[in-house]
Amino acid sequence: MSKMSELQERRLAAVPRGVDSATSVFAAQSVNAEIWDVEGRRYIDFSGGIGVVNTGHCHPKVLTAAAAQMKAFTHACFQVTPYEVYVRLAERLNALAPVDQPAKTILLSTGAEALENAIKIARAFSRRPALISFGGGFHGRTYMGMALTGKLSPYKVGFGPFPSDVYRVPFPNSFHGISASDSFSALKDLFEVTVASTSVAAIVIEPVQGEGGFNIAPFKFMQDLRALCDDHGILLIADEVQTGFARTGRLFALEHSGIKADIVTLAKSLAGGFPLAAVTGRREVMDAVSPGGLGGTYAGNPIACAAANAVLDVIEEEDLCARANKIGTIILARFNALKERSDFKCIGDVRGLGAMCALELIERGSQNRPASQLAGALVRKAAENGLIVLRCGMHGNVIRTLVPLTVPDSILDQGLRILEETLAEVASSAS
Ligand code: PMP
Repeated sequence: MSKMSELQERRLAAVPRGVDSATSVFAAQSVNAEIWDVEGRRYIDFSGGIGVVNTGHCHPKVLTAAAAQMKAFTHACFQVTPYEVYVRLAERLNALAPVDQPAKTILLSTGAEALENAIKIARAFSRRPALISFGGGFHGRTYMGMALTGKLSPYKVGFGPFPSDVYRVPFPNSFHGISASDSFSALKDLFEVTVASTSVAAIVIEPVQGEGGFNIAPFKFMQDLRALCDDHGILLIADEVQTGFARTGRLFALEHSGIKADIVTLAKSLAGGFPLAAVTGRREVMDAVSPGGLGGTYAGNPIACAAANAVLDVIEEEDLCARANKIGTIILARFNALKERSDFKCIGDVRGLGAMCALELIERGSQNRPASQLAGALVRKAAENGLIVLRCGMHGNVIRTLVPLTVPDSILDQGLRILEETLAEVASSAS
């Protein structure tokens, strides 16, 4: 039995099946946009561990900063003996995040925890109970994360009851015939039919839906949403956990629409592979919670903070926002060329913002027939062919790119070639 099969067997026996893996590739080493498995096989990584390594696996500057911190101390608990790397990171995020100044930041460990805290803060500030999120949105696997998440299977099935007073409206999706004005009307209906706007603490939105299918909210919709929030005294929470840190060609995706959120949730690429999350918001909102109401033993781990400060340096020094736009231009040109080909009728839509690009796969030319199995086969076969790539979308039929922004052109090209060849392989055997 191969080492990989043996590990897979042990994994299946020891780890519950609820923790699914996109591939059965057991990682042994990773550098920038490449991963080597336990048998020495090399893969190009278009997943970045689900959007975590925008600065590449094991960026030397990030490792050096983390190693230096490890030599000083690895844990102190900010609620016991605070430390400067946390404060420095908070100061930097306060200055950079798309929120009105002055701002404040709390650091946590995971994206879901960031959402939990954003909601605690929003409710404490507004003294209102209700929350609105969007169909297809993903906000984490904790109870409030699930309550906000707009996709039932596999995230919510069997886990209820969920926290109450969470309402949902459709996310704009031009490929599926939901216009921005449809979404906006649904919000207005909600206020008339279901929940008074004066009871709503916050609207939570991903400027580009991640797990939901890389759906880009029109910039005008985001501006209208901001105005609606202002009219009704509702806080706008932008969940930038997946869109953050240069992925969309701006440091934060909200910058494309030019609006500010009241609260922004951050995680994933914030610390380049170390577990760290943040909630950044307007100072008066963030200070609504009494002392002791926020925190966590590990929240804002010093090694992760040191890594995150290095990540912010790398993004600036290597101009990764510009690089994301270049990568996106390359990917979209290749994807659009595929869509034109007669043997790729399965490509229903190509879309992207910066390097957050997607291919939506359909059957028989109909956007109402998601090609979920084809997308699953593509992900599996791509791994066999040396490319780690992920799918997303309500029906798991969207192939997404979360390649490190530090990827060299030659590796990006190789990865795209594997993706194209694998799609040809699985599409021909499906038809
Ligand atoms: N929000 C968004 C937009 C996400 O994409 C994710 C993770 N995919 C989360 C929240 C939850 O983050 P975590 O898995 O770190 O809890």
